[in-house]
Amino acid sequence: VHEGILRRQSARESSARTYARALPIVPVRARGLTIEGADGRRYLDCLSGAGALALGHNHPVVLEAVRGVLDSGAPLSVLDLATPVKDAFITELFRTLPPGLAGRARVQFCGPAGTDAVEAALKLVRVATGRTGVLAFTGAYHGMTAGALAASGGAPDVQVTRLPYPQDYRCPFGIGGPGGAETAVRWTTSLLDDPKSGVPLPAGMILEPVQGEGGVIPAPDGWLRSMRRITQDRSVPLIADEVQTGVGRTGAFWAVEHSGITPDVMVLSKAIGGSLPLAVIVYRDDLDVWHPGAHAGTFRGNQLAMAAGTATLAHVRENGLAARAADLGSRMLTRLRDDLGHLACVGEVRGRGLMIGVELVDPEADGSAPAPVSATADPSATADPSSAPSGPEPFRTPRPAAPALAAAVQRECLQRGLIVELGGRHSAVVRLLPPLTISDEQAAAVLDRLSDAVAAVAR
Ligand code: PMP
Repeated sequence: VHEGILRRQSARESSARTYARALPIVPVRARGLTIEGADGRRYLDCLSGAGALALGHNHPVVLEAVRGVLDSGAPLSVLDLATPVKDAFITELFRTLPPGLAGRARVQFCGPAGTDAVEAALKLVRVATGRTGVLAFTGAYHGMTAGALAASGGAPDVQVTRLPYPQDYRCPFGIGGPGGAETAVRWTTSLLDDPKSGVPLPAGMILEPVQGEGGVIPAPDGWLRSMRRITQDRSVPLIADEVQTGVGRTGAFWAVEHSGITPDVMVLSKAIGGSLPLAVIVYRDDLDVWHPGAHAGTFRGNQLAMAAGTATLAHVRENGLAARAADLGSRMLTRLRDDLGHLACVGEVRGRGLMIGVELVDPEADGSAPAPVSATADPSATADPSSAPSGPEPFRTPRPAAPALAAAVQRECLQRGLIVELGGRHSAVVRLLPPLTISDEQAAAVLDRLSDAVAAVAR
């Protein structure tokens, strides 16, 4: 059965398949952290539907909520009509919002995916400001539709100005390390304020508080506060893309809470649907200048997803799972650094909460040779790095990223019954996104298997 399904689907499905290539498994049952394949093998799932599963697979509160809708005879799809199921979802969602937004929020239901909500956010700020350009960051990932893709650096025909996202390790502009975030801030203000930069006042700035697909890069809280101040001072709406970081994942209910900033727009998807498709934007009421029909879509009324989402949001809130993610995540990071930090093939272990990354590097390369990647090597970079105010020297000179080693670690993990994701600009970061419900014992088993897998490729 297993082999037949794999063979048929790889023959019939598009060549754009991604996960299925690296993970030749055929899931037939799942519960919590565990997936069981058609071949009877069991796996610990730290991919979690690319971060969509805050409570793991088939959590009882999610199943109960979904069954509740099915048994009630409620319509499953309702466009954007008012329903009790939606009312409960909005009430629970608003209960969780950062204080600065909670009292004055509007919600717009978007298409089913995160990328749809990103499109809505980009449209909204353009309508609200009457401006067109967007500020986005190096290494960003916002989705695969045209506007979201442009903000992610993949569609040069949409006007996006790319700014440096602060990162100490392997900063593409060579400004990582002490003072690096301040340099990134200075660069941003000079791009916005210097008429010679040619960057017109934009419609909005979009950022991830922790870059996920970009390789698990947490933004410093101080830098986020600077981005808030810079945008506020210039009346530029700040869009926080919390598609991946939201619902407790990083150790706060919303990742922007770590820095205390209040964005003008929040883009939410993945975990808010409790594993079913749901995406919304939440924004300050004075930005609500849409005309009726300005952002329509058929699948904005998925009642099963709303019920699953309500149950998930409430469960995370009532059980303090964000605090649990902060605590367990920091213990996991400590153990990973102890286990792996000394290996020549491990460049960095980093993360926030239960968003954890291990970057694989070439152990043979000379780590002392300065090797900052020039921004011009990044096809998504539109800014000229030579125009950056001069900053401190890079304080670390990482060995070259090793995507082949990361893929080997992913394979070794799979052999040991552990599913992990890869990310980062070089696909060299092994990523863990376990459900927030993972127990200490399960976390230890995950780390045992990951450490074994890395040790196997390090040999
Ligand atoms: N924004 C972020 C931060 C994401 O991580 C993703 C998906 N990985 C998206 C947007 C796009 O979401 P979707 O895949 O549901 O379109």
